[in-house]
Amino acid sequence: MDFFEFLNTAVTPYHTVDALKAFFRANSFANFDDVLEPEKSYFVSRGASIIAFRTPKQWNESSKFRIAMAHTDFPSLKISPNPDCFSAGVCTLHTEVYGSPLYTSWLDRDLGYAGMLAYVDAADGKTLKTKLFRGEKLFRIPQLAVHLNRGVNQDGLKVNPQIDFNALWSGASGRASEGEKNLFVKALEKELPAGARLIDFDVQLFDAQPANQGGFNDEWIYSGRLDNLSSCHAIAEAIVGAESNENDCLVACFFNNEEVGSTTREGAVGNFLQSVLDSIFGSFDLAQDDNSRSVILEGQSPNRIHTSLSSRLSSSIALSIDMAHAEHPNHTEKHEPNHAPLLGKGIVLKTNSQKRYASDLMSSAKLRLLCEQASIPLQVFITRNDMPCGSTVGPTVSANLGIPTVDIGEPMLSMHSIREMMAASDHADMIKLVRVFFCDKN
Ligand SMILES: [Zn+2]
Repeated sequence: MDFFEFLNTAVTPYHTVDALKAFFRANSFANFDDVLEPEKSYFVSRGASIIAFRTPKQWNESSKFRIAMAHTDFPSLKISPNPDCFSAGVCTLHTEVYGSPLYTSWLDRDLGYAGMLAYVDAADGKTLKTKLFRGEKLFRIPQLAVHLNRGVNQDGLKVNPQIDFNALWSGASGRASEGEKNLFVKALEKELPAGARLIDFDVQLFDAQPANQGGFNDEWIYSGRLDNLSSCHAIAEAIVGAESNENDCLVACFFNNEEVGSTTREGAVGNFLQSVLDSIFGSFDLAQDDNSRSVILEGQSPNRIHTSLSSRLSSSIALSIDMAHAEHPNHTEKHEPNHAPLLGKGIVLKTNSQKRYASDLMSSAKLRLLCEQASIPLQVFITRNDMPCGSTVGPTVSANLGIPTVDIGEPMLSMHSIREMMAASDHADMIKLVRVFFCDKN
C-alpha cells in the first residue's frame, strides 16, 4: 500500500478503516465469520476499528498470539450536530474539538470535510443505511490580521475553541435569511442517493493538503495525521508481507478513539479485541476437541490442549505502536538529555516509571534483542521528571488481557499539529521491525 496514498485517503477514522479493508481484501484476507482454517488471513471491523489476523499452520502447546496495535483516529474538529451559524454575511459551522489538536495549526489552512452519513431511502423510509463520503469543497478558519491583533507576535496567539473554531464554509447562502436552519444538512444531503433523507452525520474537518516529501535530500515526510496513520501503515504492510509463522497467530489491531481515552465500544478499552481473540481461540480449541468440525488445524494432536486463553495471552506478546517525540532542534531543553530520540535514527522504545507506557523489563528486553538481531537502530525515550508523560493504548490492552506489551514508535515533530513531520527512514525501519516481530519464533 503506497504510504502517501494512504495518508491522503485516510482523512477520518472511517476512511482509515475503509482503506485498510481494501488493502486486506486485495491481499486475500477474508471476512471473519467464526470459521477458521489454518494458514489463512481474516479481518473483522467494528465502527472505525478493524482487526486483521493470520492463523498458523499448527496451533500447539507453545503457540502464541503476536499482536501489533495502533490507533485509527487523530485530533480534529468535528462538525457539531446543529452547526449552522451566520456572522458578517458568511455561513459558518460550529465545530467541536476532538482530542487535543495543536489549536493554532488549524488556522489559515485549506480544510476538507468528510465522514459517515446515516440516511433512509425515499422509497423505504425506515431502514438506516450509511455512506462514507468526502466533500469536494474547501473550508477555512482564518486568523485575525496582525493589524487587528496587535501584540500577537509578542504574546503568542491564544485560541478560544468556542469562539475561534467556527469554520467559514459558504458566502453565497449567507445572503439568504439569517434564520434559515439546516443549511449544512441540506448540503450533506447532496452526497446521498436521489430522494434519500439524512438522519444523522459524523463529519469532521481535515487538512486537505496532500502529503509531501521534504528536506534537502527528501529525507522527511510532511503530512497531516502521521500520528498515527504511520503506525497503521507499518502494521498493515507487515502483517501482509510477513512470512507465515508456523505456530503463532498474527494479529493486527487498529483502534478508534485513542485520542479521547479509548473508552468506547470500538476503542481499546472496549471488548473488541477480547471478543475476537475469544473467537479465534475458541475455534482452535474446538478443532482439538471435535474432529468432525471443519476447522481442524493441520497436524493437530487429538488430545485437547489444556490451556485457557488468559494463560495463552500471558505467554504471548504485543507491540503498541504510536508516534514518539523527536528532539526539537530549537528546543532541546524539552527532552531528557540522555533519552532524546532523533529524527531518522530509528525506532523509539518508550518506557515510563509511572507506567504511562506498557513496556516492562521483559517486553523491553525482547524488543531490544529483536532489534539487535535484525540490525534495526533503536533509541530510548523517557520524559523529563518535571514534565507529564503521554500514553497509548498499550497500558489498557496489556492490563485487560494480561499480555506482555512493549510501547514503541517512530520519532516525529509537531505531534498533533494539523501538519506533522517525520523521517522516511524511520518508517522503513518500523515496517521491517513489525515484520520481524511477526516472523519471530521465540
Ligand atoms: Zn498517537
